[in-house]
Amino acid sequence: MAEKLFTKDFTKQEPVCDEAIANALGVLKTGRLHRYNVSSGEKGDAALLEEEFAAYMGRKYCLACTSCGSAMHLALRSLGVGPGDTVLCNAFTLAPVPGAIENSGADIELVEILDDYTIDLDDLERKAGKAAWLMLSHMRGHITNMDRVMEICTTHGLTLIEDCAHTMGASWDGRKSGSFGKVACFSTQTYKHINSGEGGLLVTDDPDVISRAILHSGSYMLYDRHTSRPAMEVFEPLKTMVPNYSSRMDNLRAAILRPQLRTLDEQCARWNKRYKILEEGLNGIDGIRCPQRDPRESYVGSSIQFSLTGRDEDTIKAFLQGCMDRGVQLKWFGNKEPVGYTSDYSSWRYLGGHPALANTDRILRTMCDMRIPLTFSEEDCETIVDIIKRVAHAVLPQ
Ligand SMILES: *Cc1c(COP(=O)(O)O)cnc(C)c1O
Repeated sequence: MAEKLFTKDFTKQEPVCDEAIANALGVLKTGRLHRYNVSSGEKGDAALLEEEFAAYMGRKYCLACTSCGSAMHLALRSLGVGPGDTVLCNAFTLAPVPGAIENSGADIELVEILDDYTIDLDDLERKAGKAAWLMLSHMRGHITNMDRVMEICTTHGLTLIEDCAHTMGASWDGRKSGSFGKVACFSTQTYKHINSGEGGLLVTDDPDVISRAILHSGSYMLYDRHTSRPAMEVFEPLKTMVPNYSSRMDNLRAAILRPQLRTLDEQCARWNKRYKILEEGLNGIDGIRCPQRDPRESYVGSSIQFSLTGRDEDTIKAFLQGCMDRGVQLKWFGNKEPVGYTSDYSSWRYLGGHPALANTDRILRTMCDMRIPLTFSEEDCETIVDIIKRVAHAVLPQ
């Protein structure tokens, strides 16, 4: 029997829904793409998206930005982070996260991770005295014990900022990811959970933080057009003191996102069906281990990670090549050279050479990653498992 190959594209998303396309056309036909190009009292799509996302999250305020990276930068600036400050961050994260911290002028202190890819909370506790801020990146959707995070933050006076680029729609112990931090930031970039090409959403309950973030985002003096904001008086002492970093979202992207937000939870359930098939299949293969997830973690399986624990570089490369030859594109966080999105902290050389993190190094060395686009059916996921199983049997020595 001929060996099965997989032919679908790992970077192909579903089209945006018809309602989003119709909304987008509506905005295009008016020509009023800029968020402040609305009459007084009229709510544009950007303002409506902010109201709707704040409501979805159960938070008071939301600001739509150009990207999650820009939202994180505004969050840090709005909290008063600047040169001379240190921000703690888990070492397994994506390049825009250390980039946002660098953009704020602060130094970064990276925290180790554990074998389940979440932040090492013991290491966080050891390092907590060095900083006043924690940027917690729920990288690839892995959520740590948030009860203990909150305890550590309270004990050590750390202000928490959450990077929820991969946890939109997820929760910890019944509470939404992004409702723990003083500020939380989300991405609406194509490979996240709702898709406007690029985009970011910042949420907070703090009137001072949101008014600063709105001003930083570049509201000119039109912040009255925001409807997810505190009273106008709050802006008065700030309006000439807060610089404009031009990070606004436009009405076109907001129009594309609003219908997608309404189906987000259904989409998350579809991702999880695929994730469960892959997780169960991969865990059944000798030499492959998906992380054990806490029952309190309600994640969104839009990608899957697994470890080839104890395998050397050559074996892992042979495994990845074997999968690739059969159409299964895996990423590898252990690559010495940054490739695609799989850079690690040693390739962020602008940090000036961060001290080595032994556990993070060991864990990343054998960590593989696979995107799960919703254009893959459940049968596709079974095919992928079969292919990986066959390659593992051939390449991973028992
Ligand atoms: C994608 C991503 C970001 C940044 O999102 P952008 O909208 O592309 O700036 C931040 N953190 C993580 C973990 C991500 O995956």
